[in-house]
Amino acid sequence: MVDSNDGRRIVELRTQLNFHNYRYYALDDPEITDGEYDLLIRELRQLEEQHPELITSDSPTQRVGAAPSDGFTQVQHTQPMLSLGNAFNLEELEAWYRRSKNLMDDAEFDLVCELKIDGLAVNLTYQNGTLVQGATRGDGTVGEDVTQNLRTIRSIPVTLQGDPPAHLEVRGEVYLPLDEFRLLNEGRAERGEPLYANPRNTGAGSVRQLDPKVTASRKMQIWVYALGDMGGHSGPDNHWDSMEWMRLLGFRINPNNKLCHSLEEVHDYYLSWLERRHELPYEIDGIVIKVSPFAFQNSMGVAGREPRWAIAFKFPPEQAVTRLLNIGINVGRTGSLNPYAVLEPVLVSGTTVRQASLHNAEDIHRKDVRIGDWVIIERAGDVIPHVVGPVLDRRTGEETEFEMPKFCPVCDTGVVKPEDEAMHRCPNTSCPAQFFELLKHFVSKGAMDIDGLGEQWCRILIDQKLVSDLSDLYKLKKEELLELDRMGEKLADKIIGNIEASKKRPLPRLLFALGILHVGSEVAELLAQRYGNMAELAAASEEQLTEISGIGPKIAESIVAYFAVDHNTDVLEALRAAEVDPQHEIIEVDPGQMPWLGQTFVVTGTLSSFPRREAESRIKALGGSVASAVTKKTSFLVAGESAGSKLDAARKLETQVLDEDMFLEKLRTATAEIASAERES
Ligand code: NAD
Repeated sequence: MVDSNDGRRIVELRTQLNFHNYRYYALDDPEITDGEYDLLIRELRQLEEQHPELITSDSPTQRVGAAPSDGFTQVQHTQPMLSLGNAFNLEELEAWYRRSKNLMDDAEFDLVCELKIDGLAVNLTYQNGTLVQGATRGDGTVGEDVTQNLRTIRSIPVTLQGDPPAHLEVRGEVYLPLDEFRLLNEGRAERGEPLYANPRNTGAGSVRQLDPKVTASRKMQIWVYALGDMGGHSGPDNHWDSMEWMRLLGFRINPNNKLCHSLEEVHDYYLSWLERRHELPYEIDGIVIKVSPFAFQNSMGVAGREPRWAIAFKFPPEQAVTRLLNIGINVGRTGSLNPYAVLEPVLVSGTTVRQASLHNAEDIHRKDVRIGDWVIIERAGDVIPHVVGPVLDRRTGEETEFEMPKFCPVCDTGVVKPEDEAMHRCPNTSCPAQFFELLKHFVSKGAMDIDGLGEQWCRILIDQKLVSDLSDLYKLKKEELLELDRMGEKLADKIIGNIEASKKRPLPRLLFALGILHVGSEVAELLAQRYGNMAELAAASEEQLTEISGIGPKIAESIVAYFAVDHNTDVLEALRAAEVDPQHEIIEVDPGQMPWLGQTFVVTGTLSSFPRREAESRIKALGGSVASAVTKKTSFLVAGESAGSKLDAARKLETQVLDEDMFLEKLRTATAEIASAERES
């Protein structure tokens, strides 16, 4: 007996899924996230399993993609282009493996693990080694002819190498690299155009449009992952070897593919890519596991729209849709008014998200995010969740546009917006919100390192009016601390001791700790090296500051502005009176002693000879500067063991990479140069 509720729900789900398939496959403009889509199709699949008599051939569980769009010539696929079954957890993967083993009477077989590229599936046909047709998957049986567009993708070979069969079809995923996607959106932002939502749909849209120039301008790429029809030619007898064979013919095969012999190895592969997925220059949404021997694939066959011999093991979704209840404002330590989204709580990659970053007013307006909107939230890796954009089709007209407050929400001072900056700011340096953030920063590890004074104690010291500017810290008495709730003798001693010890921190640390806008630890080092103490720095003009290599007009302006505020100089004076006035030994720069002057290094990975910090000190001692990210200005990347995304960035920018041995050699050469310069003088 069919429960009529189930029957109704099945119809409802099919209607919804058909609509979402159309938006995703035909328009390349989905309205819900992939995670939400997966939940809907899963529910439908479960209901259909309970009521197999209700399965119809047009159910979204039985069909692939969507029919080809008008405007393209249709292509009948020689072999159907299938979808993939999904596993969302280890149990589901194990169940698939057990089924596969059963089907093969427990015979042993190799598995191939691949990254599941989030792009657009295409079929490429070659006649006598020449590309004659490129087609999308369409509904799996009939696709769209996009040959002219695919020809513009450089990594799709137009002519094959080696000895290809007379007729050869291969399948792969065309995708828009993340850098290209970002560039595209930067251009759109500059022109005031709405931003593209994600690389998958932007990429698919770039291929499924009628002007090859548009595809060409987007610098798309392909990873080829399967053989298709070969017109009876017998090539390799298993999938793993077929990939190598295709590589030799000139196809771009992903180097991260892995041959596995057990499910444990597959699981390790999954876990390692789950962690490292954001190091890749393209998006993946899981891994694909394939039974390697073709004889096994053939005997396992196909169930509905999915081959039984392969499965996608999907990563937990990193995006979710939820309601934007309000936009709050946080005042940062430099006075910036930082808007954030207050959300209806939603689960994203296993964590409940209640707030997300909204960057600044310009960003909110560019994305056209309104209070009351349904918004897409993304939480990629360790990055703070952010609002991708609104779901425009779910707008009711009740939503309200956001306006930046005219007055600081904490101290009520009029807000300013410097023309060349994206942020609105509260100009009051004694604003309690600014001061709380500043105090947290001042006591933090990289700054004055006052261990024991955590965020909560900073808040309490301010609330109890024990500390209202930075110099007050140095006037704190143990008895005052002991009067605070939950403050014990031991902690009070520790805090007082650490405050005392912080007086000895070197000048660069103090300069960094003061929270001067644009003065990070690198700039603080440069300033200390030039001026040696606070009084000398306070007297410097913008022109003098910009003479220092590494200090531009924006930083110089901010430093001069800082010392022009009476409140700041009063605090510095009080700090000096409390013996917080470090002197920095200025090392006169003799170019002979500084062979690496003007060279910028980035150090990454693990070095076996010494810790990274020491490597950085040695670089600085030789005149080089050390940066944290690889940019066009980087001269060398020193890459130790397990170097990750910085190494990728360096390769992309063609920055010279030094492994540990090369770096040590370079150090030895520089030291030898200095020694010989000294001997000569
Ligand atoms: P799928 O994405 O789950 O898997 C099949 C596809 O994976 C293949 O067609 C191929 O394009 C791709 N793929 C990538 N790397 C591969 C590799 N190494 N080997 C083999 N194939 C590889 O299935 P599908 O039918 O294409 O799409 C369903 C998925 O699309 C859903 O799970 C959902 O994530 C998304 N979707 C979203 C919406 C939406 O509204 N947000 C709508 C429809 C579909």
